[in-house]
Amino acid sequence: MKKECEIVQDLLFGYKDETLHMASKELVENHLKTCEECKKIFNNMQKDELDNNKQEGEIDYLKKVKNKISKKNKLIIIIGIILTIIILLNIGIFIYYYKEAGKVEIYLDDNITQEQIDNIKNSISNIDEKAKIEYYSKEDSLNQMKEKFKDNQNLLSGYESENNPLPAFLAVDTTVENARKIETAISLPGVKKIQNILDINPYLFIFSKVVINN
Ligand SMILES: [Zn+2]
Repeated sequence: MKKECEIVQDLLFGYKDETLHMASKELVENHLKTCEECKKIFNNMQKDELDNNKQEGEIDYLKKVKNKISKKNKLIIIIGIILTIIILLNIGIFIYYYKEAGKVEIYLDDNITQEQIDNIKNSISNIDEKAKIEYYSKEDSLNQMKEKFKDNQNLLSGYESENNPLPAFLAVDTTVENARKIETAISLPGVKKIQNILDINPYLFIFSKVVINN
């Protein structure tokens, strides 16, 4: 190897990175014009650098794709969690609803007699002998309502005893199936209206339980 080749090859990196002083740069350029071997080395260096850049570009691209995929996966997981929560919430609502839905409230006329009340109770027992029947007088109804609106008492002022607009009622605790039977079978004197909880929209039912009762 010629002495000049050694010097030029030492300078090639600097030449490639364009960090050489003018004199050195000219020396390298002139030598490359005449020396095939050094030119070959220099060409290889440039080729290697191109390959490196290309590889880095490919790695960057792969990283981007991987990021995209993991972002997509995260989104899928989040959507999955939200859907699961919604489904579980709905299952909970319907389980609670059907547990509570075997309840019927039978509102009574103000002038109902004790005999008529007993008649209604007997009819219910004929449908479901295990049904729990509880009688709430007009006063009980009013007290219940006062309890519900205890933070807003003046809403109910003026509705005491003789002005009490609320009916007495029988609260019947039974199964969902028997609640339907009771609802359709009981049309006896003294019954004003029958409210089967099953007929209430489950969401409204839960809403009223959670918001109003608490
Ligand atoms: Zn040379």
